[in-house]
Amino acid sequence: EDATAATLAPPPPPPPPHFVIVPMVAQGHTIPMVDLSRLLASRGARVSLVTTPVNAARLRGVAAQAARAKLALDIVELPFPTDIAGLPPGIENVDQITDHNHFVPLFAALRKLAVPLEAYLRSLPPPRRPSCLISDWCNGWTAAVSARLGIPRLFFHGPPCFYSLCDLNALDHGLHEQTAAAADDTEKFVVPGMPVHVEVTKATAPGFLNSPGWEAQWAECVDAMRAADGAVVNTFLDLEAQFLACYEAALGKPVWALGPFCLANKGDAEATASRGNAPDVARQSAVTAWLDTMGTDDSVVLVSFGSLVRRLPKQLFEVGHGLENSGVPFVWVVKEQEAASPEVEEWLAALEARVAGRGLLVRGWAPQLAVLSHRAVGGFVTHCGWNSLLEAIAHGVPVATWPHFADQFLNERLVVDVLGVGVPVGVAEAPVMIFGDESAPVVAREDVARAVAALMGDGEEAGERRRKAKEYGEKAHRAMEKGGSSYESLTQLIESFRQSAGGEKKAKDGTVHAWSALKEQK
Ligand code: UDP
Repeated sequence: EDATAATLAPPPPPPPPHFVIVPMVAQGHTIPMVDLSRLLASRGARVSLVTTPVNAARLRGVAAQAARAKLALDIVELPFPTDIAGLPPGIENVDQITDHNHFVPLFAALRKLAVPLEAYLRSLPPPRRPSCLISDWCNGWTAAVSARLGIPRLFFHGPPCFYSLCDLNALDHGLHEQTAAAADDTEKFVVPGMPVHVEVTKATAPGFLNSPGWEAQWAECVDAMRAADGAVVNTFLDLEAQFLACYEAALGKPVWALGPFCLANKGDAEATASRGNAPDVARQSAVTAWLDTMGTDDSVVLVSFGSLVRRLPKQLFEVGHGLENSGVPFVWVVKEQEAASPEVEEWLAALEARVAGRGLLVRGWAPQLAVLSHRAVGGFVTHCGWNSLLEAIAHGVPVATWPHFADQFLNERLVVDVLGVGVPVGVAEAPVMIFGDESAPVVAREDVARAVAALMGDGEEAGERRRKAKEYGEKAHRAMEKGGSSYESLTQLIESFRQSAGGEKKAKDGTVHAWSALKEQK
């Protein structure tokens, strides 16, 4: 009888898959991958997030919070290469760079992480052998490592599918060459192969890392994209259905839409406070308490420009005057480097005194997600980094768009023209360098005030944007709940790699399904 019972007993479930996550060392890339790691771990997967010492130190709050929540999420620290020509010691993140000449050496240093990454992966004992590597699109160097070890690899690309599809179509149809050769900066080009009409100029054309001097890195990343087993994106079906479908078709491999990742932190103050830099629960509580005093729902505008953009004083002052003149309650995030001079600090202090009770200045790193999820906040003036835009959308907050570089101009087109949740600040279509350009056109205080008034106003258009934003916010929450498209896609992702746990390279036999398979099931 015992023998029969033993024969009939179901086999033990295969061990949970182990995802090894390799983010790019920039806040706008690491934050979503930390959120993704939390999502995977909260659904039972084992996750190891690989980074370098300076970045690992910033993630201590994440590690501690994950340990308290009993998640199988480890931070793995690889030694940072020494003696990189042209890179001062200590620089391990894009946001530490103050000289444009340090970008290429930083990327050169990161490529050298291939050796310790491979050693780490080889050292893992069988129960922890990696089932899948998920590395940032910009970490093209991981492709050779995963190929040598036979580990499946997905790339994570930070922008929306709308942007990634534009970029892929530009690549496949030679648009990059055409825009680069354009003599006239205002000449318009239609992005080929898009399901909607999209125009770009030389300055707003898609492209990550494809500037002069970056040819080798860019080619490596494009090759890594082509060789990957699939892609993971921070978006959701109801937001980008047609672009997701076209992107998956153009890429010719599964695309897993698992977002908005930021909702992985929903309702967890410790998790939101540990996003990005060192955890700062006290600062988050102080900002939230200030917002609590603002009373009316949707009355406050958040003004912040991501983790990298640094403004020159002349532009900073125009933003400040614009906010003051708008009469709208605001939270304005000013970076430490922007407020570094006594002149600027004095000016900011005077402004603070004039707008006391109506405007809050946050110096340095702000608890952006906590602000956007506060009911008092009803608008966001943003540089159009995709994380910021999606965090706004996920919380039903319409935006005023002020793009600066990379994918931000096309992200603006998506939220303004396609989704109808954005109003442009109306900047000239010229990329503004990350650190502020003396020659860049300054956006005047009147334009800032006008954009804030349009965003926060009572008119029909403002109301329509607000309504649409709330609708997408509800859909975003539904996508992440049990039965929702992102939730179910994540289940499929985990299950398909559970089958291949053990590190064998998965055959392309249809067991890896992305969102399209999910759609067929419905
Ligand atoms: N962020 C934050 N506090 C800040 C500045 C940025 O929490 O003071 C977060 C923001 O919520 C987002 C990320 O940093 O998750 C910025 O990413 P995004 O794609 O918007 O822009 P980037 O920094 O890459 O330009």
